[in-house]
Amino acid sequence: MTMKHRHVSSELKILRSLHTRMKFHSKEEHYFMSLEKGYKGEQQFDKWLNLHTKDMIVLNDLLLEHNNTIFQIDSLVITSNTLYLFEIKNYEGDFYMKGDRWYSLSNTEIKNPLFQLQRTESLFRRLLEELHISSPIEAYVVFISPEFQLYQTPLNLPIIFSTQLKRFFNQLQRNSSPLKEINEKLAKQILTLHLPESPYTRLPKYDFPSLKKGIYCPTCQSFYTAFSNKKTIQCNHCSNSENSHAALKRTIEEFILLFPKKKITTNIIYEWSNKMISKKTIRKILSINYEHKGHSSSSHYVKPK
Ligand SMILES: [Zn+2]
Repeated sequence: MTMKHRHVSSELKILRSLHTRMKFHSKEEHYFMSLEKGYKGEQQFDKWLNLHTKDMIVLNDLLLEHNNTIFQIDSLVITSNTLYLFEIKNYEGDFYMKGDRWYSLSNTEIKNPLFQLQRTESLFRRLLEELHISSPIEAYVVFISPEFQLYQTPLNLPIIFSTQLKRFFNQLQRNSSPLKEINEKLAKQILTLHLPESPYTRLPKYDFPSLKKGIYCPTCQSFYTAFSNKKTIQCNHCSNSENSHAALKRTIEEFILLFPKKKITTNIIYEWSNKMISKKTIRKILSINYEHKGHSSSSHYVKPK
């Protein structure tokens, strides 16, 4: 049973939007791509776990704090007798180990993911000790892609390759018994410690004037060029069509995510959507979905809580 599902983080949502509306430098591009890839890998792991989660509680994407240090757990699996902590990596290609160091076959050194795992495990262990919880913890790095190969791997490392997942979880299931109330209580207790949003984000600098305006297709990220009629908006690039009110609502939500401090007004949304939808329609959509505040020149909308 999955008690906490994974969602796209605000950081990734903002980056997706910015990537469509501005040009990224190579470092920004690389960071964005690595977040997308990591998220895809985590989704693959979730999919896999969903088919094998008998007698387990799964908590995904936990953001916790111990001693003013914030750390993240990709997936925590609670069984009747053990807490399993998984760090998921969606690496592809050939790598090798030399002592504690990891390299690609072209000899570029990469960060050893086992160090990150050790750090997370240690912080989590200390956090639980503080709460007087003494469940055994096991921590593993999961390499989810079958396209990943690590050479010269010692046998005793806490690593699970994609080809070993099945055997690993079969064994895990054999070692555990049906869940009890106490396991569920523990899961709920850990959930109360979860922080809502990471304070650490790496966003490129952006502002309203410099971003590309318009409404873009959610399927292929091309900007819409025209309405086919008043109710539907069609993408010239992939021929996906969308209800124009839904497209506008989505674009308003995007504006709010990118500019949480800016006032939502008919005029700014008109400009944001590149004047593709009449002010009358924008006003209508705003008044249906948001709370109206102020009068005449100070008139604006806020997101209902
Ligand atoms: Zn499209």
